[in-house]
Amino acid sequence: MSSNRGACDVVESKHIPERTCVGCRRKAPKSELLRIAADKNGWVRADPGGKLGGRGAYVCRRIECLKSARKRLPRALRCDAESVAAAWSAIEAEVTSG
Ligand SMILES: [Zn+2]
Repeated sequence: MSSNRGACDVVESKHIPERTCVGCRRKAPKSELLRIAADKNGWVRADPGGKLGGRGAYVCRRIECLKSARKRLPRALRCDAESVAAAWSAIEAEVTSG
């Protein structure tokens, strides 16, 4: 993985929103993570734009994280495992294409 951010000597006054990956539990800027959303009906979707309502959980765009996240997502999203399973191929496609 080449995620060397390099030295940054500019003090950032702007707060960068960070989220924790459900898979590996690392924090990363929101923009680097894929949001997975569940609406109030328990419908789970990949939410790359981060604009869907409802509960959201974040994963790195890595298949390893996605795999670890799968069993944690129902709890994170307060939905059932079937809802996650139903959305899984779309979520996986989102990660592998990105
Ligand atoms: Zn991760």
